[in-house]
Amino acid sequence: MTTNQSCFEEAKAFFPGGVNSPVRAFKAVGGTPPFIANGKGACLLDVEGRSFIDYVGSWGPLILGHADPAIIQAVTEAIAGGMTFGAPTPGETELAKLIQQAFPSMEKMRLVSSGTEATMAAIRLARGYTKRTLLVKCDGCYHGHADSLLVSAGSGVATLGIPGCPGVVPGTASSTLTVPFNDIKALEAVFAAHGKDIAAFIVEPVCGNMGVVTPNPGYLAAVRELTARENALLIFDEVMTGFRSCFGGVQTGCGVKPDLTCLGKIVGGGLPLAVYGGKREIMNLIAPDGPVYQAGTLSGNPVAVAAGRATLTRLRDEKDLYKKLIASTNLLADGLLKLAKNHHIPVIVNRFGSMFTLFFTSEPVTSYADAKKADTARFVKWFQEMLGRGVYLPPSQFEAAFVSVCHGEPEIDTTLNAAHGAFSAL
Ligand SMILES: *Cc1c(COP(=O)(O)O)cnc(C)c1O
Repeated sequence: MTTNQSCFEEAKAFFPGGVNSPVRAFKAVGGTPPFIANGKGACLLDVEGRSFIDYVGSWGPLILGHADPAIIQAVTEAIAGGMTFGAPTPGETELAKLIQQAFPSMEKMRLVSSGTEATMAAIRLARGYTKRTLLVKCDGCYHGHADSLLVSAGSGVATLGIPGCPGVVPGTASSTLTVPFNDIKALEAVFAAHGKDIAAFIVEPVCGNMGVVTPNPGYLAAVRELTARENALLIFDEVMTGFRSCFGGVQTGCGVKPDLTCLGKIVGGGLPLAVYGGKREIMNLIAPDGPVYQAGTLSGNPVAVAAGRATLTRLRDEKDLYKKLIASTNLLADGLLKLAKNHHIPVIVNRFGSMFTLFFTSEPVTSYADAKKADTARFVKWFQEMLGRGVYLPPSQFEAAFVSVCHGEPEIDTTLNAAHGAFSAL
C-alpha cells in the first residue's frame, strides 16, 4: 500500500532529505510530510486519501487555489501550440503590459524562471550600473539561494538554523552586509561606513520569509530617501508580496518607488516564471542592449506566460476579488487571535493582504530578532495538532501562510474549529 511513509522512504534514496526544496521535509516540525496526490481549490489530497485545507498554496503562487479551470484552459491551449521555442512570442509582451499596469515602476523588464534568478540578476545589474560592489540586505529576509543572498537569510535557512552556508566563498559572503529590518539607524550607519561601495539595498518591503513582518510607518520612505541620497539602488523583492494584497504590490500602497523590482510566485500562476525590472535607464544595461549578461533557455516560455496572463487578468478584472480575499484573511486571523486569547495562549498575528503568520509570543514582532523569540516548540505542537485536524499550514514558525480566493467562509469555519481543538491540546 502506498503511504506517505513509504513515499518518503523511497524519495530519500534519491533526493537529499527526500525532497527537492528543504522546508518540504518537515525537519522543523518532525514527522512525515504528506505526499500530495492532487489539489483542488483550497484543498489538498495526500496519497493516503486524507484531505487538508491548504494554507501553503505552493508557498505563495496559488492565489486562485489549485487547478483553477481558467488557468488550466489557458495552459492547455498554450501547450497544444508548442511548449517552448527559444524565440520571442507576442504573449510575452501581453504579460508585460499586465505587469506594468500593476507595477508602473517597471518601465522595462526581463522574464526569468524563478525568484532566485530574478534577484540574482537584479543584483548583478545594480552592481554593473553603480560600478560598486557591496550589497546590503536585512537579517531574516530571503531573496532566493544565490551565493551573495544566503547571508543571514530567512525561509528554510532560518527554519533549519543554518548559520553560514558552506560553499559560499568568503569574498562573496563578505560583500553582503546585513542590517535588522525596520532599523533605519542601522542602515544609516552602514552607509556612513561604506556608502561609496554600496551598490544596492535589497529588501522584502513586507517580509514574509521570517514569518510576516510589516514595515513601521515611515521606514520604507526613509530607506528610499537614504539610498537615493547615497546613489545606491533600492531593490524591492516583491516575489512574495506582488499581487498578494492588491493588483500591484507593497509599493502600490506605500507610494515608495524602488529602482528595481523582483516578482515571482503569483506572476507565473503556478508555473515557473519570475521577472525583474525597473527604471528604463538601468534596464537598458541588460544584454543585448547593454553589457550586463543574463539569459535563459526557458525564459518567457509560452506555457508559463499563459498561466501568468490568465492569473493576472482575473486579478485585475474581477470586481471585489481582493476585498473578499482580505475579508477572508481577516476573518481567519481575528478568529485565531480570539481563540488563542480564550485559551490564554499569548500570540501575535501579523498580516499583509492575504498572507499572515501566527507567532507564539506576547511581544510585537517587527524584526527577525523578535521573530526568533517566538516559542517554536509550541509552534511545532500546534502545527501537528492542526495537521492532524486536516489543516495544512507552513511547517515552520518563520514562514507566511497564504489564503486563496477558494478559502471561503466554510473553509475558514472548519479551520477555526480545528484551531479550537489545537489550542485546547497545547
Ligand atoms: C520565494 C522567494 C524568492 C525565491 O523565489 P524562488 O522562485 O523560490 O527561487 C525570493 N524572494 C522572496 C521574497 C521570496 O519569497
